[in-house]
Amino acid sequence: MRARRLLFWLLTLVLFFAGCQTPQRTIRQPQPAPAETLQVVFFDIGQGDSALVRFPNGKTMLIDGGPTSAGARLVAKLRQRGIQRLDWVVGTHPHSDHIGGLIAVLKAFPVEEIWDSGFVYESPVYRDYLLAARGAKNQAGKRPPFRVALKGTKIQPAPDITVEVLAPSKPYLTGTSSDPNNNSIVLRIDTGSARFLFTGDMEEALRRRLYQQGANLRAEVLKVAHHGSHDGTDVPLLRRVRPQIAVISCGQGNVYGHPHKETLQALQAFGVRVYRTDLQGDITVRLVGKTLQVLPERSPSAQEQRSPRERTRFIGNPRSKVYHAPDCARLPQPSNRVYFPTREAAERAGYRPHKECLGDY
Ligand SMILES: [Zn+2]
Ligand SMILES: [Zn+2]
Repeated sequence: MRARRLLFWLLTLVLFFAGCQTPQRTIRQPQPAPAETLQVVFFDIGQGDSALVRFPNGKTMLIDGGPTSAGARLVAKLRQRGIQRLDWVVGTHPHSDHIGGLIAVLKAFPVEEIWDSGFVYESPVYRDYLLAARGAKNQAGKRPPFRVALKGTKIQPAPDITVEVLAPSKPYLTGTSSDPNNNSIVLRIDTGSARFLFTGDMEEALRRRLYQQGANLRAEVLKVAHHGSHDGTDVPLLRRVRPQIAVISCGQGNVYGHPHKETLQALQAFGVRVYRTDLQGDITVRLVGKTLQVLPERSPSAQEQRSPRERTRFIGNPRSKVYHAPDCARLPQPSNRVYFPTREAAERAGYRPHKECLGDY
């Protein structure tokens, strides 16, 4: 009898402690969620580039502003995100699809500092951008410094975070396929746990210079150069950057056929997760603790998911004014192509069909 009672108490005791374990686990204080370290929004502003970087201390850097036609839309997008001032505005190079939208931004927000590649280019948009830069005001109502940000420029916008300019360097590259593109500001943001590489419209000549200079290009997040053009990305670059995430900023149905299939294939071969503003709208990349999160505004439709080759019906050669079927064996070089949705569109633009692939029409 006594033994049975002892057994009863023993069992009760065991059950009591066993029962205690579960509540103990739930009572444990939850770990505070790691704070967001950095946020980058790649804006869908049509054919062009524009990205907003938000540092954990609230400081902001806008890298490019898309085309002039997107200026008002970009200002609205910034306001929607609670932006009232910008600490740095970066114009990577003087092409209108990068600095055009900055004209409206420089008029709409107080700006503390403007970074420019210093590469001079003659165009009405570049002139208007310089005028807007001259008329810009910082929060104190003064004209912000207009800084030529060359290789070696380095700032610490927030504790433990650096922004380093890797290009351009002097002497500026000349005689390249596009000198404005090859003198783009290339910059790298390093937070200690993740790195972001912004490449402007860098092409092969600038890549070669960076390799020669031994630039550290390693980054988890890559803003793909030149809207995914075939001249902006190659295998040696991806070997150096080793990105996990790549963002391509380009306009839906753009006339350049960006992104080019060569770029998409190279990124795919490296197992990079590719996001596109033309298919997914604004793309937000957040660094939370040591984790990178990507939040696209929308998912691409089934129609959009088809490859650009499938969506592109006809390819024109602007030099010869001849248009081809996409599977023609004699297509023009990728740098010398325009794309048409229909034969009628090609003919309206003054192109005639290539006899070998399209016959007499
Ligand atoms: Zn561009
Ligand atoms: Zn460009």
